[in-house]
Amino acid sequence: MGLGQCACVRIRNLEHARINIAKTFHLSSLTPHTCPLIVRKRNPHKTSDPRRDTEEAVAGVRQIYAELKANPPERNCTLQTECCRFQITGQTPVLTKGEALTAAKAVRSAGRKELPKRDDGACPLLHPYTSRCMIYEGRPFGCRTHFCEAAGGPYSRREVSDWIRRLEEIDERLGGDGGRDITVAIRDALEDLK
Ligand code: SF4
Repeated sequence: MGLGQCACVRIRNLEHARINIAKTFHLSSLTPHTCPLIVRKRNPHKTSDPRRDTEEAVAGVRQIYAELKANPPERNCTLQTECCRFQITGQTPVLTKGEALTAAKAVRSAGRKELPKRDDGACPLLHPYTSRCMIYEGRPFGCRTHFCEAAGGPYSRREVSDWIRRLEEIDERLGGDGGRDITVAIRDALEDLK
């Protein structure tokens, strides 16, 4: 199939994001973009200053988190941290590039240069002794929208689609490839921040 026929290419941008949302809410808040044929257009917003691009992206992501925090759909999260134990849920949050950079900054602010190692299948940012998120204020969007069934399952698409669209736009401005596995995405973002 040539590029012209690729369904992902035809529906990319907003329509692609919508389909991601529909898929994702059975999994987490954002779904990885897996089509290998996507070729992103040159980004007119990207500057020749990567540090500035990063700062603007992180500011945009934090703004989205702040809006979600100020207007959270009703949930029943009791901090059981089940959604952080991927070996239980069978689901892993995926992060757009802006979210990954935001989380990586939070990791650095917590005094770490690398992700902790974790071999039981739980999120590496789940503290092994306190069972608290090590980057709670900088945790990704998927961690805020509770795919955890105990909290009531994922937010509905209608509740968060505007925020997801904005995260996708930031991702595209950074030249990202859509949502990626939390561990891989944050590890790469930590490298980017060096
Ligand atoms: S980043 Fe924090 S909230 Fe999200 S899965 Fe990891 S420990 Fe849980």
